[in-house]
Amino acid sequence: MLFKKKQIQDCVIIGSGPAGYSAAIYAARANMSPILFTGFQPGGQLTTTTDVDNYLGFPEGVNGNDLMNNCRKQAERFNTKIINQSVNRVILSNKKGGIHKIFFENKECIESRGLIIATGSHPKFLGINKEKKFMGLGVSFCATCDGFFHKEKDVAVIGGGDSALEEVNFLAKICRKVYLIVRKNYFKASKILQNRISKKKNINILFYSNVTEIIGNDFLEGIKIFNQKNETNRTILVSGLFIAIGHIPNTDIFKNELDLNEKGYIIVQKGKTITSKPGVFAAGDVQDPDYQQAITSAGTGCMAALDLEKYYLSI
Ligand code: NDP
Repeated sequence: MLFKKKQIQDCVIIGSGPAGYSAAIYAARANMSPILFTGFQPGGQLTTTTDVDNYLGFPEGVNGNDLMNNCRKQAERFNTKIINQSVNRVILSNKKGGIHKIFFENKECIESRGLIIATGSHPKFLGINKEKKFMGLGVSFCATCDGFFHKEKDVAVIGGGDSALEEVNFLAKICRKVYLIVRKNYFKASKILQNRISKKKNINILFYSNVTEIIGNDFLEGIKIFNQKNETNRTILVSGLFIAIGHIPNTDIFKNELDLNEKGYIIVQKGKTITSKPGVFAAGDVQDPDYQQAITSAGTGCMAALDLEKYYLSI
């Protein structure tokens, strides 16, 4: 047993990305003795990127893993109790001052009056044949994790946002050729990333294009692409397909407990982190369909801890 029965906590945090750790630091400094569940990917999505160039305070950029290790150390310095487990169920009270039940991996339950949800999001699948079967056999969501398997080979990236262009930028340094497959004829990504990839000669951008099929028997050998403008099909031979078409919020366990929007994001009050249940706050990508930046996540993590502190003053 990790926790004594009947011990009611002040602040439980679910999630270990920038939102979770930032919430922990603020909650700890407000004497709320936070307990943070890391989830199955300690450090969150930033641990799958290389350099983070747009986090304030790092003029030369910072490695995603290093940044998250430092966030963890900072949270630990203020005595956050960090538990390397996933929460798999919650029962949330409707009453002001009520007690929320949080169940984690080994079927233990912890009770708390305050809960901060910072569970982030996960990458979206395309929904085509063999995509799931070939995960790790050529299909990937993470160029920094799997890119080196394709050294000096041809690969494809699908998506037109910041994630896709970052993947392309990374892969172009190690692969022979990188096809970038974009369904519209323009990018959603920021101009700085567009400029960065425009300078590389081994990137071939295919606009108006969709991947319709994955080819290969035991592992990925190529993909079929449909061009919507010319209404033509073509096959390209690649050893890797990197999917970067956006994210889905990690809210499955909150579906029957909190108000979610049509895309599954937790609904919070405008300019706050207050959810539909008293004492429950949401921070980071799990409540943010618009910005989804490390720095905005960290900002909303801070807000959640401050909102929780105010909540305690009101009960
Ligand atoms: P986005 O939602 O920004 O972009 C998704 C891209 O994938 C769009 O081009 C979209 O096309 C395309 N797409 C979506 N579904 C499909 C599909 N079924 N088939 C083909 N293409 C599809 O997601 P990202 O993951 O790129 O970024 C999420 C957030 O994280 C953003 O706010 C981004 O700014 C941020 N981010 C920032 C980074 C940085 O600052 N360095 C790095 C990575 C992410 P369409 O435009 O047609 O909808």
